[in-house]
Amino acid sequence: MNAYLASVLENVRTKHGNEPEFVQTVEEVFSSIEPVIEKHPEYEKVDLLGRMVEPERMFTFRVVWCDDNGQWHTNRGWRCQFNGAIGPYKGGLRFQKNVYEGIIKFLGFEQIFKNSLTGLPIGGGKGGSDFDPAGKSDDEVMRFCYSFMNELYRHIGSSIDVPAGDMGVGGREIGYLFGAYKKLTGVYENGVLTGKGLSYGGSLIRPEATGFGATYFLREVLAHGGESIEGKTFCLSGFGNVAWGAALKITELGGKVLTLSGPDGYIYDRDGVSGEKIDYMLEMRASGRNKVKDYADKFGCDFVPDKKPWGNVKADIYMPCAMQNEIRIEDAKAMVSLGVKYLNEVSNMPTTNEALEYLQQNGVLVAPSKAVNAGGVAVSGLEMSQNSERLAWSKEEVDSKLQGIMRGIHNQIIEALDTYGMGYNLVAGANLAGFKKVADAMIAQGIN
Ligand code: GLU
Repeated sequence: MNAYLASVLENVRTKHGNEPEFVQTVEEVFSSIEPVIEKHPEYEKVDLLGRMVEPERMFTFRVVWCDDNGQWHTNRGWRCQFNGAIGPYKGGLRFQKNVYEGIIKFLGFEQIFKNSLTGLPIGGGKGGSDFDPAGKSDDEVMRFCYSFMNELYRHIGSSIDVPAGDMGVGGREIGYLFGAYKKLTGVYENGVLTGKGLSYGGSLIRPEATGFGATYFLREVLAHGGESIEGKTFCLSGFGNVAWGAALKITELGGKVLTLSGPDGYIYDRDGVSGEKIDYMLEMRASGRNKVKDYADKFGCDFVPDKKPWGNVKADIYMPCAMQNEIRIEDAKAMVSLGVKYLNEVSNMPTTNEALEYLQQNGVLVAPSKAVNAGGVAVSGLEMSQNSERLAWSKEEVDSKLQGIMRGIHNQIIEALDTYGMGYNLVAGANLAGFKKVADAMIAQGIN
């Protein structure tokens, strides 16, 4: 490996040993960008890579809230403003029990390159809290969101940093966060958050965007090999907003979704998740029970407890839509023996680096999450444009822009691979393309 690249990576490993997810994402990106670093020896003098792995700023804050019984609780909140070279920081907020600095940093780092790939002027950021939304009442969630914004409002703005949703943060939470921001600042600045409701500046297609975008990207990948979604079978994990959007678009394009999963296990529906069964995913999510078994109980299909579909169910295409690191080496081996040909990563970093390498060496075509799931943040970028122009585009307009953006990402990847004389390695191409634009902007802007 290039000596400069290796020394920065070594430094990251030493410094962030207690943040394995962050180290993993840096390793993944660095394993692809060697050709560009070799071509640009001037990067070392200005320590471009050392700067890139260090967030511009990141802060931690106390969030105190009161539950319905009058008991007070203290959680921790974070916002990481990782890289603002190409636009205001942009990225979601994740509310989940297991959130800590390492998760926020890994997601923030991924976000830099993902946002760059969209072609829109948005930098990389991420935030969240270790607040566990499971089983909380609406009022509790509202009090938590108001308290969270009580600190966050000082650091964000439509030209500064624009948070959105992620796991545990959906339309309801964004509504409360927006209400709190407006109250605290006295300004109706709707471009400060995205993923808003339609009645106060949200964009049509934003709820569907991540799942739709992931399916549009896959369509490009399949078309590249002369294939299509029609008639293909799919395994999905998760049953949240992202899996819902993907299931809608896959079925519309003639594919069949066989599985969904939750923390309790996975369902296997041989007839395919379609029609009212897709609508039911939203009901299951809204119930707050967080159990996918409800689907099997309602529609009478198989439920397998405590497992994911990976390596257990045969399908043409796997699309993880749940968590980081849900596909591990043993799953990768089982996938290869089952003959799965495509892995379209939707959740952020769903595959461990070891599993990723194994899959690529054994003929599975992997489309990386930073390209595949970029449709979500891209439509957030479109929401920002609509807010700043004080207008609202039609569903068709947003959807056609989204399709154009996903096609554009695929084209950029192909171009980067051609530039460096590489084959159809989507992981490397996405890293090379995403990185180069941010690198150029950082160099152009001098010391910062
Ligand atoms: N959390 C989503 C992501 O990882 C959406 C971020 C956004 O819309 O800003 O891209």
